[in-house]
Amino acid sequence: MLNKEPGNLPDKYVLPGDEIGISEEYLPGRNVIDLDGKLFSLAYGKVQKDDVRLVMSVRTGKEKMRPRMGELVFGQVVKDDRGSQTVRVGAYADREGHLHEIDFTGIIRQPRGHGEERMPPIKVGDYVRAKIIREGDFPELGVLAPNLGVIMALCSNCRTLLVKSSSGLKCPNCDNMEQRKTAKDYGIVLLPNEKGE
Ligand SMILES: [Zn+2]
Repeated sequence: MLNKEPGNLPDKYVLPGDEIGISEEYLPGRNVIDLDGKLFSLAYGKVQKDDVRLVMSVRTGKEKMRPRMGELVFGQVVKDDRGSQTVRVGAYADREGHLHEIDFTGIIRQPRGHGEERMPPIKVGDYVRAKIIREGDFPELGVLAPNLGVIMALCSNCRTLLVKSSSGLKCPNCDNMEQRKTAKDYGIVLLPNEKGE
């Protein structure tokens, strides 16, 4: 795209859930939602400001790259098949913690029953941070470590962004409570400089 308005931020990558502006200044465009006057990204990509139409968008442009063992990836759960989730992965963090766009499908497998050690659910629509634990055509994604799991989820009733509470995730709109295997920083704005522990 030859879109080079002066308002465009130079290569500012954002993740789903990142706050990128306020609706007093810009309307939400592609891959952006307005929640209580704040604009949040719904995608991995570059922030794009249209200062003529006053619209903020997040532009995605996927690279063809193969994920490697141990890399952290970010994606959205698109399907649940008897406890295994299919994740559309949109970004990975390299060893230095820099984010890169990527586009592949990975699988989260529910760990098989060792007693009552059952992982809280991950649901369709959730955004997750995961680690590549097996390479292949459909890489397997691990989410068990404390820094891994759901980083953004919407209420099953009303699609409002769920917030962390003492007993799980709570919908600030309809008070619905939900459980997820969350990452420990669920709900905190993410900075693209994390290391996978
Ligand atoms: Zn709700």
